[in-house]
Amino acid sequence: MKGLSVLAEAVQASTTLAIDAMYKKMQAEGINVIGFGAGEPDFDTPDNIKEMGMRAIEENKTRYTPTPGVIELREAICNRMKDDCGIESTPDQVVVSNGGKLVLYASLKALINPGDEVILPAPYWVSYYELIKMVGGIPVVVQTKQEAEFKITPEQLKEVITKNTKALILNNPSNPTGMVYGKEDLQLIADVCAEEDLYVIADEMYYGLLYDNKPFTSFVSLGEKVKERTILINGVSKSYAMTGWRIGYAIAPVVIAKVMSNYLSHAASAPASISQWAAVEALNGPQNGIEVMRQAFEERRNYLYERMNKIDKVSCIKPEGAFYIMMNLDEIIGTTLHGVKINSSDDFAKEFLEKGLVAVVPCTGFGAPNFVRWSYATSMENIKEGLNRLEKFLA
Ligand code: GLU
Repeated sequence: MKGLSVLAEAVQASTTLAIDAMYKKMQAEGINVIGFGAGEPDFDTPDNIKEMGMRAIEENKTRYTPTPGVIELREAICNRMKDDCGIESTPDQVVVSNGGKLVLYASLKALINPGDEVILPAPYWVSYYELIKMVGGIPVVVQTKQEAEFKITPEQLKEVITKNTKALILNNPSNPTGMVYGKEDLQLIADVCAEEDLYVIADEMYYGLLYDNKPFTSFVSLGEKVKERTILINGVSKSYAMTGWRIGYAIAPVVIAKVMSNYLSHAASAPASISQWAAVEALNGPQNGIEVMRQAFEERRNYLYERMNKIDKVSCIKPEGAFYIMMNLDEIIGTTLHGVKINSSDDFAKEFLEKGLVAVVPCTGFGAPNFVRWSYATSMENIKEGLNRLEKFLA
């Protein structure tokens, strides 16, 4: 038989989803395991949003919609982005699809020709790397430093630009580091991108989750010059606890939005109509639910950060946003735990799951091989017990 697609065969399965599946399987088998794997809020979708979804079914809003989404949703997105981030946009710049991942994929499809280079600051979210490869692009990984709060500097960016560089992926707040780029950091990066004629895919999926009163600056809000080369990625999954509804969106220059929409018209059509109407309510309805969740995440982050740093052999820096914390394993890698040599964060995560009964994500696939990621989108009770288990596991 002939071989499969070389491009497709080179794709690695998502570690976050693999860990989540493993954790859920163990749970179903009755094993008392605690999950800090896939980042998804433990809160339920707010009632008003669920009711709108049910109403959409009752009112037979169950047919095909325009590929980039119903106009009411695209208008709601423009209004929300204006109110929250100061972004001026029109509905013909908006493309809604089945979650942030498909929107990202369509963005890369719209920009990348085979062999184009895409700059990716590490640590990065596992799917960016694979998505770049999936469109025939070449990921150019830039290792950021813990001392620099894992943020790419303009100098680092300049150093890796070649004649083949097409785009930069900038995730702010960052998954997995939890770091947040401030306005000045962003402006310096934007200047380099303008000088060097690079597109920017600005993934701001966690923009509603910042701590310590830190203000958020959207990359797109930096001005017209930035806007004309940027595709903003966002969605309702994290801020409104709607991961399963699968609604992500992009705001892009009209020409790019058109190409993305054409592409999606064949690859996916529009996302589920019911989810789209629920998202309209999420964006237009009361916003106080977000603050309740944000405060809970902040409290959990504080606890996790303080206690983790008191445990021997591990450490972490304080995340400023999103709901992830990266645990540094420098003192553990190369040592033996419970009779097993720990050569990588994959080994650590495997042992910790099997013997410690705690699921965390190894950051090998995130460009940070000496770290594991904990998602604190879980209850305080689980966080306390997870850390008790970590202490026992390392003792
Ligand atoms: N984005 C979340 C995470 O990093 C959800 C899982 C996924 O889509 O990879 O855990």
